[in-house]
Amino acid sequence: MATTKFAIAPMKAAQIPKAGADFQIVEREIPKPDAGQVLIKVQACGVCHSDVLTKEGAWPGIQYPRVPGHEVAGVIDELGAGVSGWKKGQRVGVGWHGGQDNTCRSCRRGDFRNCRNLKIPGISYDGGYQQYMVAPVEALAAIPESLSDVEAAPLLCAGITTYNALRHSGALPGDLVAVQGIGGLGHLAIQFANKFGHNVAAIGRGSENAVLAKQLGASVYIDSKSTNAAEALQKLGGAQVILATAPSSKAMSELIDGLAPNGKLMVIGATFDPIEVTPIQLISGSRTIQGWAAGTPADSEDTLHFAELSGVRPMIETYPLDKAAEAYTRMMSGNAQFRVVLTM
Ligand SMILES: [Zn+2]
Ligand SMILES: [Zn+2]
Repeated sequence: MATTKFAIAPMKAAQIPKAGADFQIVEREIPKPDAGQVLIKVQACGVCHSDVLTKEGAWPGIQYPRVPGHEVAGVIDELGAGVSGWKKGQRVGVGWHGGQDNTCRSCRRGDFRNCRNLKIPGISYDGGYQQYMVAPVEALAAIPESLSDVEAAPLLCAGITTYNALRHSGALPGDLVAVQGIGGLGHLAIQFANKFGHNVAAIGRGSENAVLAKQLGASVYIDSKSTNAAEALQKLGGAQVILATAPSSKAMSELIDGLAPNGKLMVIGATFDPIEVTPIQLISGSRTIQGWAAGTPADSEDTLHFAELSGVRPMIETYPLDKAAEAYTRMMSGNAQFRVVLTM
């Protein structure tokens, strides 16, 4: 009966009705873009581990029902009032950076990535697990023609995060760069690091990803289950940068001694557990630990263009929107090879 209400312009959405609840596939009215916004016809949306924040209600102040999704690829369907520089029919993506306030101290310094009131699609407003979504113009990234929607979607979070962290890590061509974890982030990081001209050491638990890591561009594979990975890195001269992608604080802590002098542990794998390090470990060799969060839509465009230029592509498994719950479970299992993407 409820569907008659939406008979004029229905669309399908996968929503979380309340914190901790299961996905619901619902029909909704296609939303209208306000001033400064666009309506996007979503073609694909990546399923990211951070969607757990929406599913389980772990983000302070999140309101329900909420449609998750911050790896959105689609086409502009309608422009809101006052929108210039974008046109109907244009292919666009929306990633983690879903809009800044332009007024906080970080924004006033031009550091939009660290906006104190950053809006995140799928958390602050409904994201891409639906056939149409509304986004503010400052969240849009243009998608190059040569990238398909399902390829572009994961590059808007997993891709930009690894690409941007690496290009701001200080590592130079020829430097030994280690990528910890061969998963959704790591399989992209290995490719980017290789294309940046680094000597790439991939670190995984067990031998099952050894062949794949080398195919992706690693020159060395270190199995942290059977060897001391920090010692193995030191035998290679020490890593200038270790990009920690797998969400294991223990595994990250164990790698710090693998850093070269002035080396940096760059942390992008999100956990709530503490990384353990002694002051001596940091003082000797002037080592640093730094975190990195995604980037702006302009950074997303850089990521997409670099992927287009270099051939870096995500490995994906696709699911239809109707199977959002299954797709999410698959992502959470950690067994996906490697990014799960919904198609509309
Ligand atoms: Zn994400
Ligand atoms: Zn701001």
